[in-house]
Order: sequence, then C-alpha cells, then structure tokens
Amino acid sequence: MGVAERYLKVRSELEAECARAGRAPGSVRLVSVSKTVGPEAVGAAFAAGARDFGENRPDGLLEKAVACPQACWHFIGNIQSRRIPDIVAHAALVHSLFEERHARKIDAAAAAAGKVQNVLLEVNVSGEASKGGVTPAEAPELLAACAALPHVRVRGLMTMAPQGDRVVARETFDGLARLSDELRRGLDAQAAAVFNELSMGMSEDWREAVAAGATIVRIGRAVFSDEFQA
Ligand SMILES: *Cc1c(COP(=O)(O)O)cnc(C)c1O
Repeated sequence: MGVAERYLKVRSELEAECARAGRAPGSVRLVSVSKTVGPEAVGAAFAAGARDFGENRPDGLLEKAVACPQACWHFIGNIQSRRIPDIVAHAALVHSLFEERHARKIDAAAAAAGKVQNVLLEVNVSGEASKGGVTPAEAPELLAACAALPHVRVRGLMTMAPQGDRVVARETFDGLARLSDELRRGLDAQAAAVFNELSMGMSEDWREAVAAGATIVRIGRAVFSDEFQA
C-alpha cells in the first residue's frame, strides 16, 4: 500500500470510529504526522485529500511547509526558544506549549508576525517521567498566564498516553477531557468559546482517543509507514 491508500484507509477507519462513538463524521481532525518522511510523501497524502500535517522539529516544519504551503501545519514537538520565530511563521497550531517563558516568546514572535498564535497546552496526564507537559494541577496557572498574552490564543489541551496499554491510554484521554471541562468553567465566555480542542491519540491508540472525545488525532506511522500494522 502507498501513502495515498494508507491515508484513505485511516480516514475511513476514523469516520467509522466516530460513528461507533456516536460522533459526527467530521468532528475529529486527522493530522498526518510527516516527521519521518520527505516532501514527496506529504505531496502524495495531500493529493489523496490530507490537509493537516504535523511536524515535531522546526527544520522539518520549515522544509515541508515551504514545499506544501496549501496545507495546514501543526507543530507537535519540543519547543526551543531560539526556534520560536520559525515555528510561529509556519504553524497554524502549536500543540506542545507547557512553559510560561515560551508562551511569552510566542506572544512576542506572533506580534512581530502580525498574527495571533493558536496553541494547545501539553499536559502530562499519566505522570510518566519521560513525557513533557505540565501536571494537571499546574495547568490552571499556565492557562491564566497565557490569557494575559494578546497574541496567544489557547484552543485546548494535548497529551500523549503511555504506550502499549489501551486501558491506560483510555484513562489518560478521559483524564484530559475531564481537565478540559474543569478549565473551561474557569474561563470567561469569550475564552471558553474557543477552548474546545483535545489533541490526543496516535497510530496505536487513536480509537481510544476518539471514544474519549478527541477533536484532533495525530497519526504518523499508520499513514506514512508500510511497516505499521493496526
Ligand atoms: C510522532 C508523533 C506522533 C505520531 O506517532 P505515530 O505513533 O507514528 O502515529 C504523534 N504525536 C507526537 C507528539 C509525535 O511526536
């Protein structure tokens, strides 16, 4: 199977899973994570209908966003201060913000670029030491700090589940959904109206994420690798 076929297969599986969960077919955005492939594979997925792509490194984001500017680009990786202007220049949505100092730098870079940067706050729901993100307890403080930045708009939350156990993955995603509901209650009406994205679920656990209310799934290998078996 080539990239186009795999993309179409994942997309139809995603629609089926939405139906099973009693959700509208278009209610979950599929971000194809292209970090392991080049611009040609991005082009093949785009030709098959993919419009959202994710990158976890600024260099990959730059290279592929320049090659395929019609697509909507997502930055899902580790944020380094000095690369923030590059990220802001190309990312429609930054999924991986969890440090206040980075939020301030994103605000400044977005102001300079004449845009408001949409971001998600990354939360380490599972508590694994290897994962980035604020703890759920720290999330309200970071959200409040971002609310004071005019060129940063917090659109919701992102998490990664521990690998290898679907029950734990589901618990992690349910935890993020609950936290999102709690945080939304603390926002004013205007901020609450746009705080509606849950980015969760990857190749191995996106079905659990859809059942838990994901609005964005980030899928790499199932779209781009011929070695991946669902
Ligand atoms: C690589 C990556 C993904 C996609 O992972 P797959 O297992 O290949 O689907 C999703 N989210 C983040 C943050 C990633 O770095």
